[in-house]
Amino acid sequence: MQPPLPHRRFSASKLVVASHNEGKVTEIRDLLKPFGVETVSASELDLPEPEETGTTFRANAELKALAAATAADMPALSDDSGLAVEALDGEPGIYSARWAQMPGGRDFDAAMTRVEKEVCARNGGPGGNRAASFVCALTLAWPDGHMETFEGSVAGTLVWPGRGTRGFGYDPVFVPNGHTKTFGEMDPAAKHAISHRADAFEQLIDACFAQPARS
Ligand code: IMP
Repeated sequence: MQPPLPHRRFSASKLVVASHNEGKVTEIRDLLKPFGVETVSASELDLPEPEETGTTFRANAELKALAAATAADMPALSDDSGLAVEALDGEPGIYSARWAQMPGGRDFDAAMTRVEKEVCARNGGPGGNRAASFVCALTLAWPDGHMETFEGSVAGTLVWPGRGTRGFGYDPVFVPNGHTKTFGEMDPAAKHAISHRADAFEQLIDACFAQPARS
């Protein structure tokens, strides 16, 4: 069997955050800050948003990062993430943003209400299996087409009604296992320490950013 190829290390000083979602861009910027990497977002560069035609978080992360790296001619980091609800066989999953899409724009109150309704319908009431996870695939792509992808997750329980005004998206209805506050109530630093994005990020940093230990 071939040994695994070594990861490509990031050696530039700037990268594109391949997202038009301000919540995600802010979280990724905060996570990259300690590594002295300058970031510019896809919206700031006015890059087109590619259609998310993949059927997995990984496939969508890869197509978004590659499109941004090629268009901007610099390395690009993308995040494809979402809420996977056990009772809904993993939905909304890769369609998490699309469940919030309404004619007037994104409405996460409506998306959280839909999740709750469908979970109650599936469980025959508000009890039963309320397990869910946030999942995140991160891809770092280079303009020559090379990509490094890492996947992370955090397991938890859905609560209703939602609580808290911090964070974004489905944060108000998600309590991570071992905690009592929702992601919407937690201090952002506490969320960053345990989130699906932090899990994937830790793997990315180890593989592509952190200095190798000197012997
Ligand atoms: P996409 O990866 O841009 O397709 O969208 C992912 C969607 O998943 C976001 O718009 C949010 O609805 C949801 N999501 C991803 N990460 C989080 C999170 O950390 N908190 C709350 N919602 C999230």
